Amino acid sequence: MENSVRNVVVMGAGCAGHTAALYAARANLKPLVLEGHEPGGQLSLTTLVENFPGFPEGIQGPELIENMRKQAIRFGAEYRMGHVAKADLSRRPFALIVGHETIHTRTLIIASGASARWLGLPNEQALIGHGVSSCATCDGFFFSGKEITVIGGGDSAMEEATFLTRFATKVTLIHRRDQFRASKIMLDRARGNPKIEFLTDTVVEDVLEPSKKEVTALRLRNMKTGESWDFPTSAMFLGIGHIPNAKMFEGQLDMDQDGYLKTHDYVLTRVPGVFACGDVQDRRYRQAITASGSGCMAAIEVEKFLEEEGH
Ligand code: NAP
Repeated sequence: MENSVRNVVVMGAGCAGHTAALYAARANLKPLVLEGHEPGGQLSLTTLVENFPGFPEGIQGPELIENMRKQAIRFGAEYRMGHVAKADLSRRPFALIVGHETIHTRTLIIASGASARWLGLPNEQALIGHGVSSCATCDGFFFSGKEITVIGGGDSAMEEATFLTRFATKVTLIHRRDQFRASKIMLDRARGNPKIEFLTDTVVEDVLEPSKKEVTALRLRNMKTGESWDFPTSAMFLGIGHIPNAKMFEGQLDMDQDGYLKTHDYVLTRVPGVFACGDVQDRRYRQAITASGSGCMAAIEVEKFLEEEGH
């Protein structure tokens, strides 16, 4: 088995994974990158990225992520489609079950990200990047001077709604109940903002108009009265939470109550040789640049770890 044991497997191909792969490849570790169900991660779902340093005119999210991938490949990173269904981190080399195959590796970088939770509406996926967004920081600017909506009743929704008032003339926050999960301070801040209106006990049934490739209205329904109507708007921002992609490590790595991996000293997990970076361990910053930064840290830790182990 020794010959087929990888030095490092990078699980995930978003900003964190590509950057980890780039650094590991340049350290001659020949990383294997496993691209899961959402290759490219959150960046592949956005349009123009204007806050990644180095691109004064901005760069399209999918182009940025493809550039990172090419850069890692240029230095010898190997990419393969594959979803890690199970992992055994109890002994080394670690074992990863990917389809019918078991991959053995001396170290593991978990960069599997967190997937935005979507509503599952009929037209939702077709309008992502055309007015449907899960990232206010990424896409808010495009709706300057427009009336927009935010969905959700937690801190994310309050934060997004408040942030989006920098651009929008009006933000309508739509929540399915009249009770909020958001902390009092965040809720009060949103309530006190004259540009934010609240629409409670209301669910979104669909988003219009995919044939025009833009959002023109939301089809809404009041949960108490049953009344349905079309609510004109230019955008729908979702603030209904993210789901970290770390379920396969349950019981083996420490997680917080929402399933985010807990790390110490930036990217170290409680299992020596297993590192976590990017959105799967970061619920606070969640930016492309911070994910890349932590991917870099994870690769440098892998290098040190292997060196100390004599590889
Ligand atoms: P959250 O607290 O789980 O809230 C999610 C909200 O979305 C809830 O109001 C929920 O409604 C709603 N929702 C979920 N699925 C829905 C669906 N299918 N249709 C309609 N509504 C749906 O998630 P979060 O706001 O992302 O916050 C996650 C964690 O991060 C929290 O601990 C939060 O405090 C923290 N956070 C902190 C900050 C900050 O302090 N700056 C910012 C963002 C997040 P129900 O209430 O009806 O279930």
